[in-house]
Amino acid sequence: MARSIVSSKHVYLDIDHPDVPADIVIEGDRVREVVPRGTGDRAAANSYHDYGDAFVSPGFHDAHQHVLHTALFPSSLADRYPGKSESDCVERLRSFALGHPGDGWLISQGWRSALWDPAVPPTRDSLDAAFPARPVAMCSGDLHTLWLNTAGLRALGISEDAVPPAGGIFDRDANGRLTGVLREAAGMVYTARVFSQIPREELLSIYGDYFQRMLAQGVTSVCDMALSAAPGADNVREDVYEGLLADGRLPMRVNMFPQLVGDFDRIQSLQARLTGPILRSPGMKQFFDGVSSAHTAWLTEPYANPYFPGDCGRPTVDPERMRELVLGAASRGIAVRIHTIGDRAIHTAIDIFREAYERYGAPRQGANSLEHLENLLPGDVEALRDAHLVASVQPQHIVIDVTQPDRDLGPERASLMWPFASYRKAGVTMAFGTDSPCVDPLSMEVLGCAVTREDPRTGEPRGGWLPSERIPMNVAIDAYTRGSAVVAGRADELGTIAPGMLADLAVFDHNLMSTPAERLGDVRAVATYVGGALAWER
Ligand SMILES: [Zn+2]
Repeated sequence: MARSIVSSKHVYLDIDHPDVPADIVIEGDRVREVVPRGTGDRAAANSYHDYGDAFVSPGFHDAHQHVLHTALFPSSLADRYPGKSESDCVERLRSFALGHPGDGWLISQGWRSALWDPAVPPTRDSLDAAFPARPVAMCSGDLHTLWLNTAGLRALGISEDAVPPAGGIFDRDANGRLTGVLREAAGMVYTARVFSQIPREELLSIYGDYFQRMLAQGVTSVCDMALSAAPGADNVREDVYEGLLADGRLPMRVNMFPQLVGDFDRIQSLQARLTGPILRSPGMKQFFDGVSSAHTAWLTEPYANPYFPGDCGRPTVDPERMRELVLGAASRGIAVRIHTIGDRAIHTAIDIFREAYERYGAPRQGANSLEHLENLLPGDVEALRDAHLVASVQPQHIVIDVTQPDRDLGPERASLMWPFASYRKAGVTMAFGTDSPCVDPLSMEVLGCAVTREDPRTGEPRGGWLPSERIPMNVAIDAYTRGSAVVAGRADELGTIAPGMLADLAVFDHNLMSTPAERLGDVRAVATYVGGALAWER
């Protein structure tokens, strides 16, 4: 078996040994032993990589991403543009089309008519004037709304008398004619159908580019999370991954979490056939509420700036239905991860998972988790631990808008948000991710935001938002490696550097344990290993 040595003065083995000089002896795809630097048996190794002062970490693991969107929108297949008005967006797409001749879909993402001048919803007429024959799909900035031209409606089989899917809306004009704007479940379902019409080779190619981008961040594993619970619209594409895997073109580890909508055939089939080390499907995803900035997160007490008396947001799934779904998964040993932002969604989900654990024990692979967890009720930090739940959190979200929690939730609730230090103290496992494309999947921002709770671009707010909840770098790296491995069910072989573990390594040009947080933006990956093989190099 091929043997190699990776050596550095600064190796992060695990949370308690975050900076040691070591030789990592690799045999096949696993770590054979870790020995003091300079003492590895070089004569017995096929290769030796001395990284000197560089920092070697277990590969990072983004525990929450939407891969198709993260891959598609920065690619040459699609444009990304918010626009100043409807006509501005159409003009921009006209120039994009010049560089993308053919008759296939033209796709763009980013428009927000609320920010346009004038702030009115678009219609298909403006697109039809520019693109009478070629189908156009304009995805809104928040991905909840889809704006199509007539050719696009036709390509998707949407006729004038069509009925939108449950939870969806087809906009119509004063005469009852379709405007080409599809909202909520309708937007999501048909966006997924547009994407399913992208030619396969092109899709494989943009996923390939995406993997290189992730490896260049030191990310060696990702959880691809269902983007929507609208049937058929989760955008988790096992067909793409399995094709890439069969061709030997899947260079990093992917854990798929398709939608939990009451049908277990898909996940059971995925789990039965995906047992290898690269591609897995450890569990499923659901959504319990929305976001607090839109007052759709489900709260115990009304919002601080209510839109109407008693404005507490609402659950997106009836709690009894959610309980049935979770117990259905738990009875089959399948892990579930639930989007929960508001304190009532979190509290209710904890109760459901506690019951599931008491009745059926731990899932066979992976761990149950709550996703995002913004504001919590006092006591629910400990309750998470007692219900064996992982807190899957995205440090960059803390600084998306630091004025928003006070505005929507008020100071009292805002003081128990993203409580990373409290999780650590209570023994709650944290898994770090990004929720890309919601924020950019940049590994140094993930770590920097967790350590400083400041915006990595501006340094604001100075000293950090809720500074008592800052965590040290070794704890942040632990959440981004071992913690994410726990939620994906891989902690026995991923997330730390130790004998027997898979040799996924990220090498950086600065020692993360001693680099001042304000310099993290200068850190660059040097090399990334997956299963002992060099998968990417600067
Ligand atoms: Zn998400």
